[in-house]
Amino acid sequence: MLHLLKHPLLTHKLAILRNKATPMREFRHTLKEIAGLMAYEITRDLPVRKITVETPIGSCETEELAKDVVLVPVLRAGLGMADGISNLISSARIGHIGMYRDHVTLTPMTYYAKFPDNLPQAVVMVLDPMLATGGSSSDAITILKNNGATIIKLVCVVGAPEGVSKIENDHPDVQIYLAALDEKLNDIGYIVPGLGDAGDRLFGTK
Ligand code: URA
Repeated sequence: MLHLLKHPLLTHKLAILRNKATPMREFRHTLKEIAGLMAYEITRDLPVRKITVETPIGSCETEELAKDVVLVPVLRAGLGMADGISNLISSARIGHIGMYRDHVTLTPMTYYAKFPDNLPQAVVMVLDPMLATGGSSSDAITILKNNGATIIKLVCVVGAPEGVSKIENDHPDVQIYLAALDEKLNDIGYIVPGLGDAGDRLFGTK
Protein backbone atom coordinates (compact mmCIF):
# COMPACT_ATOMS: atom_id res chain seq x y z
CA MET A 1 0.00 0.00 0.00
CA LEU A 2 1.34 3.42 -1.03
CA HIS A 3 1.34 6.39 1.35
CA LEU A 4 2.16 9.61 -0.50
CA LEU A 5 3.11 12.14 2.17
CA LYS A 6 2.07 15.69 1.32
CA HIS A 7 3.27 18.60 3.41
CA PRO A 8 4.47 22.09 2.41
CA LEU A 9 7.76 21.63 4.31
CA LEU A 10 8.43 18.31 2.62
CA THR A 11 7.74 19.78 -0.82
CA HIS A 12 9.93 22.81 -0.04
CA LYS A 13 12.85 20.67 1.10
CA LEU A 14 12.42 18.22 -1.76
CA ALA A 15 12.73 21.17 -4.18
CA ILE A 16 16.16 21.81 -2.62
CA LEU A 17 17.19 18.19 -3.26
CA ARG A 18 15.86 18.32 -6.83
CA ASN A 19 17.78 21.50 -7.68
CA LYS A 20 20.98 20.52 -9.48
CA ALA A 21 22.69 23.64 -8.07
CA THR A 22 22.34 22.40 -4.47
CA PRO A 23 25.81 21.60 -3.14
CA MET A 24 26.66 18.29 -1.43
CA ARG A 25 26.60 19.67 2.12
CA GLU A 26 23.11 21.12 1.76
CA PHE A 27 21.89 18.00 -0.07
CA ARG A 28 23.10 15.80 2.78
CA HIS A 29 21.58 18.01 5.45
CA THR A 30 18.26 18.34 3.63
CA LEU A 31 17.90 14.60 2.96
CA LYS A 32 18.37 14.00 6.68
CA GLU A 33 15.72 16.62 7.49
CA ILE A 34 13.27 15.09 5.01
CA ALA A 35 13.75 11.64 6.55
CA GLY A 36 13.02 13.15 9.98
CA LEU A 37 9.86 14.83 8.73
CA MET A 38 8.72 11.59 7.11
CA ALA A 39 9.29 9.76 10.41
CA TYR A 40 6.30 11.57 11.90
CA GLU A 41 3.96 9.86 9.41
CA ILE A 42 5.67 6.48 9.09
CA THR A 43 5.44 5.98 12.85
CA ARG A 44 1.76 6.95 13.06
CA ASP A 45 0.55 3.35 13.41
CA LEU A 46 3.26 2.10 15.80
CA PRO A 47 1.71 0.18 18.68
CA VAL A 48 1.92 1.69 22.15
CA ARG A 49 1.51 0.29 25.66
CA LYS A 50 0.18 1.92 28.79
CA ILE A 51 2.67 3.09 31.40
CA THR A 52 2.53 5.22 34.50
CA VAL A 53 5.16 7.88 35.13
CA GLU A 54 5.59 10.18 38.07
CA THR A 55 5.69 13.82 37.06
CA PRO A 56 7.02 16.37 39.56
CA ILE A 57 3.36 16.99 40.42
CA GLY A 58 1.77 13.56 40.43
CA SER A 59 1.09 10.25 38.73
CA CYS A 60 0.41 10.23 34.97
CA GLU A 61 -1.15 7.37 32.98
CA THR A 62 0.47 7.61 29.56
CA GLU A 63 1.91 5.46 26.76
CA GLU A 64 5.24 4.43 25.28
CA LEU A 65 6.23 2.64 22.07
CA ALA A 66 5.53 -1.06 22.44
CA LYS A 67 7.66 -2.42 19.61
CA ASP A 68 11.29 -2.20 18.70
CA VAL A 69 12.15 -0.27 15.55
CA VAL A 70 14.95 -1.38 13.25
CA LEU A 71 16.21 0.89 10.46
CA VAL A 72 17.85 -0.77 7.46
CA PRO A 73 19.49 1.70 5.08
CA VAL A 74 20.18 0.20 1.66
CA LEU A 75 23.79 1.07 0.83
CA ARG A 76 24.75 3.50 -0.01
CA ALA A 77 22.18 6.31 -0.48
CA GLY A 78 19.96 4.96 2.30
CA LEU A 79 22.65 5.98 4.79
CA GLY A 80 21.61 9.59 4.20
CA MET A 81 18.21 8.91 5.79
CA ALA A 82 19.20 6.89 8.86
CA ASP A 83 20.27 9.75 11.19
CA GLY A 84 17.15 11.80 10.48
CA ILE A 85 14.95 8.97 11.77
CA SER A 86 17.21 7.63 14.53
CA ASN A 87 17.43 11.15 16.00
CA LEU A 88 13.70 10.83 16.68
CA ILE A 89 13.64 7.13 17.66
CA SER A 90 16.79 6.91 19.73
CA SER A 91 16.14 3.25 20.66
CA ALA A 92 16.11 2.17 16.99
CA ARG A 93 18.75 -0.38 16.11
CA ILE A 94 20.30 -0.17 12.66
CA GLY A 95 21.02 -2.95 10.16
CA HIS A 96 22.78 -2.50 6.84
CA ILE A 97 22.38 -4.12 3.47
CA GLY A 98 24.41 -3.72 0.30
CA MET A 99 23.48 -5.35 -2.98
CA TYR A 100 24.28 -5.29 -6.64
CA ARG A 101 22.82 -7.10 -9.60
CA ASP A 102 25.06 -9.54 -11.46
CA HIS A 103 25.13 -8.08 -14.99
CA VAL A 104 25.13 -11.51 -16.63
CA THR A 105 22.66 -13.52 -14.55
CA LEU A 106 20.70 -10.48 -13.23
CA THR A 107 20.66 -12.26 -9.87
CA PRO A 108 20.72 -9.95 -6.85
CA MET A 109 24.02 -10.39 -5.04
CA THR A 110 24.31 -9.30 -1.43
CA TYR A 111 27.81 -8.07 -0.68
CA TYR A 112 27.00 -6.95 2.85
CA ALA A 113 24.22 -7.74 5.29
CA LYS A 114 24.23 -7.29 9.05
CA PHE A 115 21.03 -7.14 11.06
CA PRO A 116 20.24 -6.88 14.77
CA ASP A 117 18.77 -10.03 16.32
CA ASN A 118 15.38 -8.44 17.08
CA LEU A 119 14.25 -8.36 13.42
CA PRO A 120 11.35 -10.83 13.92
CA GLN A 121 9.73 -8.74 16.70
CA ALA A 122 10.56 -5.29 15.28
CA VAL A 123 8.96 -2.82 12.92
CA VAL A 124 11.60 -2.78 10.19
CA MET A 125 12.03 0.35 8.07
CA VAL A 126 13.95 -0.11 4.83
CA LEU A 127 15.50 3.21 3.79
CA ASP A 128 16.35 4.09 0.20
CA PRO A 129 15.79 7.64 -1.13
CA MET A 130 14.99 6.53 -4.69
CA LEU A 131 12.35 3.93 -5.59
CA ALA A 132 13.23 3.58 -9.29
CA THR A 133 12.75 0.09 -10.80
CA GLY A 134 12.11 -1.26 -7.31
CA GLY A 135 14.56 -4.12 -7.96
CA SER A 136 16.99 -3.46 -5.12
CA SER A 137 14.28 -2.51 -2.62
CA SER A 138 12.34 -5.66 -3.46
CA ASP A 139 15.48 -7.79 -3.09
CA ALA A 140 16.34 -6.09 0.23
CA ILE A 141 12.84 -6.83 1.53
CA THR A 142 13.14 -10.50 0.46
CA ILE A 143 16.46 -10.79 2.31
CA LEU A 144 14.94 -9.20 5.43
CA LYS A 145 12.00 -11.62 5.30
CA ASN A 146 14.44 -14.53 4.93
CA ASN A 147 16.12 -13.22 8.10
CA GLY A 148 12.84 -13.25 10.01
CA ALA A 149 11.44 -9.73 9.53
CA THR A 150 7.63 -9.72 9.55
CA ILE A 151 6.54 -6.06 9.72
CA ILE A 152 8.29 -4.05 7.01
CA LYS A 153 7.87 -0.46 5.84
CA LEU A 154 9.69 0.81 2.76
CA VAL A 155 10.63 4.48 3.19
CA CYS A 156 11.77 6.32 0.06
CA VAL A 157 11.74 10.00 -0.88
CA VAL A 158 11.05 9.99 -4.63
CA GLY A 159 9.40 7.10 -6.44
CA ALA A 160 8.50 6.10 -9.98
CA PRO A 161 5.26 4.27 -10.83
CA GLU A 162 7.31 1.28 -12.05
CA GLY A 163 8.96 0.87 -8.63
CA VAL A 164 5.72 1.20 -6.72
CA SER A 165 4.09 -1.51 -8.91
CA LYS A 166 7.07 -3.82 -8.44
CA ILE A 167 6.90 -3.60 -4.64
CA GLU A 168 3.10 -3.90 -4.62
CA ASN A 169 3.36 -7.07 -6.75
CA ASP A 170 6.33 -8.68 -4.98
CA HIS A 171 5.48 -7.65 -1.41
CA PRO A 172 1.81 -6.72 -1.02
CA ASP A 173 2.21 -6.79 2.78
CA VAL A 174 4.75 -3.92 2.76
CA GLN A 175 3.68 -0.30 3.35
CA ILE A 176 5.42 2.12 0.97
CA TYR A 177 6.06 5.75 1.97
CA LEU A 178 7.05 8.46 -0.54
CA ALA A 179 7.36 12.25 -0.43
CA ALA A 180 6.81 12.41 -4.22
CA LEU A 181 5.63 10.09 -6.98
CA ASP A 182 7.32 11.23 -10.18
CA GLU A 183 6.40 10.66 -13.81
CA LYS A 184 8.52 7.77 -15.07
CA LEU A 185 11.95 6.18 -15.48
CA ASN A 186 14.23 7.18 -18.32
CA ASP A 187 15.96 4.56 -20.48
CA ILE A 188 18.86 4.20 -18.05
CA GLY A 189 16.66 3.76 -15.00
CA TYR A 190 16.76 7.27 -13.55
CA ILE A 191 13.60 8.81 -12.16
CA VAL A 192 12.21 11.71 -14.25
CA PRO A 193 12.37 14.48 -13.13
CA GLY A 194 13.79 12.97 -9.91
CA LEU A 195 16.93 14.46 -8.41
CA GLY A 196 19.73 12.61 -10.20
CA ASP A 197 21.97 10.04 -8.54
CA ALA A 198 21.20 10.31 -4.84
CA GLY A 199 24.37 8.44 -3.76
CA ASP A 200 26.66 10.62 -5.85
CA ARG A 201 25.01 13.83 -4.68
CA LEU A 202 25.11 12.68 -1.04
CA PHE A 203 28.73 11.58 -1.02
CA GLY A 204 30.20 13.91 -3.64
CA THR A 205 31.35 11.10 -5.88
CA LYS A 206 30.59 12.96 -9.08
N1 URA B 1 18.89 5.90 -8.13
C1 URA B 1 19.16 7.23 -8.03
O1 URA B 1 20.02 7.62 -7.24
N2 URA B 1 18.48 8.08 -8.82
C2 URA B 1 17.52 7.68 -9.68
O2 URA B 1 16.92 8.52 -10.35
C3 URA B 1 17.27 6.30 -9.77
C4 URA B 1 17.96 5.42 -8.99
